[in-house]
Amino acid sequence: MIPGNKVIRSFKPLFFFLCLCLLSLIPSHLLAGLPVLKNIIILIGDGMGYNHIQCLNYYQGIKAQPFEQFPVKLAMSTYPVKAGHFSEGNPSSNHFTTGYNTVAAWSDTSYLKKNFTESAAAATAIATGFKTYNNAIGMSINQDTLSNITEWAKGMGKSAGIVTTVPVSHATPAGFVAHNKLRTDYSRIAYQMFFNSRCDVIMGCGNPMYDGDGQAVKGSWKNAKYVGDSALWQQMMKGSGKQIQFTIKGKNLQLNDCNGDGKPDPWTVITKKEDFRKLGYGKTPERVLGCAEIYSTLQQERSRANGETNNSSPNMSPMISTVPTLAEMVSGALNVLDNNPRGFFLMVEGGAIDWAAHGNQKGRLIEELAGFSDAVNTVISWVETHSSWDETLVIVTGDHETGLLWGDGPFVPVTDHGKGNLPGMQFYSTDHTNSLIPFYAKGAGCEHYRNFADEYDSLRGPYIQNSEIAQLIRLLLEK
Ligand SMILES: [Zn+2]
Repeated sequence: MIPGNKVIRSFKPLFFFLCLCLLSLIPSHLLAGLPVLKNIIILIGDGMGYNHIQCLNYYQGIKAQPFEQFPVKLAMSTYPVKAGHFSEGNPSSNHFTTGYNTVAAWSDTSYLKKNFTESAAAATAIATGFKTYNNAIGMSINQDTLSNITEWAKGMGKSAGIVTTVPVSHATPAGFVAHNKLRTDYSRIAYQMFFNSRCDVIMGCGNPMYDGDGQAVKGSWKNAKYVGDSALWQQMMKGSGKQIQFTIKGKNLQLNDCNGDGKPDPWTVITKKEDFRKLGYGKTPERVLGCAEIYSTLQQERSRANGETNNSSPNMSPMISTVPTLAEMVSGALNVLDNNPRGFFLMVEGGAIDWAAHGNQKGRLIEELAGFSDAVNTVISWVETHSSWDETLVIVTGDHETGLLWGDGPFVPVTDHGKGNLPGMQFYSTDHTNSLIPFYAKGAGCEHYRNFADEYDSLRGPYIQNSEIAQLIRLLLEK
């Protein structure tokens, strides 16, 4: 027997003890540099890539949007773990992807058009910290439930809200709140959001009593799936601000306790533009479900004026005057959420940026981008008047690029045609792409995102993964 072994053996417990001490020292040392995070606001331009923002800047005749001047500017990858189109009957149509390859991405447009994410997988990655399969809402590739930022915030006694320009139960808002194998299960997702989530604010579209032009539908409603179903929607509106028990199809349902006092909290339901606006000032209800008087999106689907084409300038057709703007919704949401002294989480989606890009509609794309940028500005001025950058983290990004938007050829820059004129812009796809997209952050903890940008793109520079947004937020919240 070698005597040394005995020495090592007797020192083993001490050795392990020292290792443990070192391990516990590392994270606490790292966490010491992290700020206390009170409020988190994530704004997602659905389908918004670099050139989308550049087109808006040229059209508005400005150098950069205010959010482009945030201190942290990085690129972000968006690919899912599994691409293709998962469906209940044919799960094998979902296949593992190869990620993002900077050489292929800048030499081959067909590479960018393959294995891209859709909005549900992207929202799940941003909200939970885990990439997943396409069409998943808050579920892992093994179809386990993933907890999300909304749930982390509520677990800490904060408030939480989501605001969107598209139906409230659509992929992006759903990915931050609900859990479902398939994004198209709208009705069940809406039930989850209204009954199972502890959200304080849910705002968007999907109102079955109005068409795409904001006209009240005569006779039977449109499909009420985005707000659960017609029986639920009717009861929701009748019970606004008071009802906590609902009987739907013979089943009794009770609303959740959202503020932690042990009692279920009723939704105050608003639909009128005026009520959205009023929410921005003074005293507010505790819990607000806002569903604008429009079917699927605030403005992007409105009828075209005579002569408007995909290549027409913005604002050629009059805007629908009976719905709030995204900025007005955000202002109301902030005024409800900031009642909580512990802070809040808010997700804001410019959802129809993606829809206009799918449709290759140049003017409407710029309208949607302008509305999104206005909403970001509302958030910035809220931080500067009601909070501070020391306690609030604001992130502006997209969920993927839509339309493969470039100038006079793929990879050719878009060109400036002067303020008020459509820039030189062309779409080279009607679908999403695997292109990197921009990521901007300002406020509490934002600098730490640089540590996550450990991959490098030849043109865009250092980039983070979409799943790393929530990973840092989780570290900051758990501090
Ligand atoms: Zn999307």
